[in-house]
Amino acid sequence: MSQYQHLLEPLDLGFTKARSRVLMGSMHTGLEERKGGWERQAEYFKQRAEGGVGIIVSGGIGPNEEGVGVQGGAILVDDEGVQKHKIVTDAVHEVEGALICMQILHTGRYAYNNKAVSASAVKSPIHPFPPKELDAQGIEKQIQDFVTCAALAQKAGYDGVEIMGSEGYFINQFIVKHTNKRTDEWGGSYENRIRLAIDIVRRTREEVGEKFIIIYRLSMLDLIEDGSTWEEIVHLGKEIEKAGATIINTGIGWHEARVPTIATSVPRAAFVEVTARMKKELSLPLITTNRINTPEVANSIIAEGQADMVSMARPMLADAYFVKKASEGRGDEINTCIGCNQACLDHVFSGGEISCLVNPYACNETLIINQPLTAKKKIAVVGAGPAGLAAATTASERGHDVTLFDGAGEIGGQFNIAKQVPGKEEFFETIRYFGKMIEKTGVKLQLNTKVAAQDLIKAGFDEVFLATGIVPRTPEIEGIDHPMVMNYLDVLKHKKAVGQRVAVIGAGGIGFDVSEYLVHGKTSPSLDKHQFMKEWGVDLSVTSAGGLAKEAVVEPAAREVFLLQRKKSKVGAGLGKTTGWIHRTTLKHKGVQMINKTQYVKIDDQGFHVEINGEAKILEVDNVIVCAGQDPQRELQEELVGAGMNVHLIGGADKAAELDAKRAIKQGTELAATI
Ligand code: FAD
Ligand code: NAP
Ligand code: SF4
Repeated sequence: MSQYQHLLEPLDLGFTKARSRVLMGSMHTGLEERKGGWERQAEYFKQRAEGGVGIIVSGGIGPNEEGVGVQGGAILVDDEGVQKHKIVTDAVHEVEGALICMQILHTGRYAYNNKAVSASAVKSPIHPFPPKELDAQGIEKQIQDFVTCAALAQKAGYDGVEIMGSEGYFINQFIVKHTNKRTDEWGGSYENRIRLAIDIVRRTREEVGEKFIIIYRLSMLDLIEDGSTWEEIVHLGKEIEKAGATIINTGIGWHEARVPTIATSVPRAAFVEVTARMKKELSLPLITTNRINTPEVANSIIAEGQADMVSMARPMLADAYFVKKASEGRGDEINTCIGCNQACLDHVFSGGEISCLVNPYACNETLIINQPLTAKKKIAVVGAGPAGLAAATTASERGHDVTLFDGAGEIGGQFNIAKQVPGKEEFFETIRYFGKMIEKTGVKLQLNTKVAAQDLIKAGFDEVFLATGIVPRTPEIEGIDHPMVMNYLDVLKHKKAVGQRVAVIGAGGIGFDVSEYLVHGKTSPSLDKHQFMKEWGVDLSVTSAGGLAKEAVVEPAAREVFLLQRKKSKVGAGLGKTTGWIHRTTLKHKGVQMINKTQYVKIDDQGFHVEINGEAKILEVDNVIVCAGQDPQRELQEELVGAGMNVHLIGGADKAAELDAKRAIKQGTELAATI
């Protein structure tokens, strides 16, 4: 019997069956609008179907032009569109038992679009365009457009649709008072505000017949002021059930909510109890969601009866074969989503294509292809950080004879440091995954081996991949050698004692991480659901409308920290598009002073002498911690090249500026896929 038997059990929907309890949640790929994008999506979804997903849900498709997120965004309104979608549904249906539903997404006032429409003309705080208030005729058009879109999806071969009713999109905007100020039959009482949602589901069911899946995504926790109360949400759930939905999916938090809901710092399965509570009220199958990334967690949710299906979206980017591996007892071979958002959501919100930091093949299935081997080579990979790990395992999987060296006693490079930061515990999973892949692909691993150029020359390698990473930069400041100064490695890696008042030089990703490490106490809210909810002011029992607690209760900071940068820009402006605000808010809650326009003058026994915005100050701190960027570490290169070796630089060794693990892993993979 499988260790994940509950997750792998089929779900009988009466007229059809989902092969497993895993639903691949909807993600906009950015390919919907690109030339050749449908063919690329076909391969992307087909692999997930082969990987055993029970029901795939496509990226959000607009039912009309006013409903799309950005001008030119994908819509399904005619037969020409049907033909494009058929490329995807045909590919998925080549896999026996695979099901795919299309998400119908109307963004309402969340559209970056001057055609935006909504219940009322209430502008979103995170979008520039005020929406136009619809009149009764306009509302009827929107409902009919949903219904027509669902019918076209059926014609295109989808097994069903998901009607997006949560996350603060169009339907949700009618449901809550916060955005619905109407006084006609579509506003005022709750009955009136939910009329749109119910009409859309009922009329869609009438149009598509009985044997077509309708998933309705119900906002079970709005996380905004004036959101729905629990009684209202339960009432809506029951009405949606009556209107003809097949399954109800869980929605957590509007996009404008100031609570993290899917970032890596959110505890695993943090919001499941909301779905579990709803299960007591409804008889339809319920799907739970948000930060569920391992088969163990997903299986226990089903085993404990908290939900009937588990939605995992980003984990399916990280590993197309997640379910298959789990079903074959190879759960430890799953490449785990670490919740970083760096190659998926951050790309979507910058108008790009999605992929995955830990799996660069995602959405590039037809572009990055491991080439068949023409000649087996003896390859040395120096450095077992993300770049070296990706390169060594890919090259070895293709059949090369690969030796991977690292001077340290463990693989992982800087990820071993990153995982020490509260909220980045998931980074461990990438190291675990590559450890397993080293074993599986037969890479010869030599740890505690600081390699010199001569070692490689003598061993006669055909190719050398230098993945030796970076050296932290030491800025030229008077007194930089004062005993109170250390760098981020001293703190995070060597665990040197740090005083109560600290100045951090450099507010890049690492400066923020070090500050978080310093202000947190011994516990990480990411590992403690209750602390997390307390710190972000979430009331999971939804006793208050919207599920916001009266106030957030933040543990006092363990230290006083000044986070400094020279630039004029807002501190943290360069952090991830979808996660930067979380880091800035966390540090603000902890009282960290984030200061820009700082010149560093000198460090002495009095403290750190700086000029802030032209004004001289002495920060009387116990320690100054340097997080001022990095330079490439490639000391072996010259001698190797001089000896006529074939040398390839990857990751930080190639370029330290703007380096991140996304680039390191992609570069290592691409080199090893073709060499
Ligand atoms: P490294 O990870 O630096 O690995 C280089 C390896 O080479 C090391 O293991 C080293 O021991 C070995 N080595 C060097 N010289 C030799 C030699 N002569 N012989 C043998 N071995 C040698 N990136 C992100 O994308 N997202 C994040 O959220 C993120 N957070 C971070 C947080 C912190 C605190 C830190 C420090 C980094 C973070 N990063 C993050 C950056 C990310 O870890 C790096 O971009 C990535 O590790 C670079 O990979 P690499 O393989 O090029 O080098
Ligand atoms: P970074 O992002 O380049 O930041 C370094 C900071 O140091 C800059 O903000 C810069 O700010 C300052 N600085 C640079 N040279 C300096 C000098 N000579 N003297 C004083 N200050 C100087 O680098 P990092 O923070 O070291 O991070 C390394 C990489 O890891 C980053 O590229 C990042 O992508 C990745 N990372 C990502 C995350 C994430 O959450 N995505 C987290 C951690 C790390 P001023 O010039 O304004 O002073
Ligand atoms: Fe998960 Fe990061 Fe990959 Fe997105 S980029 S799927 S968050 S690991």
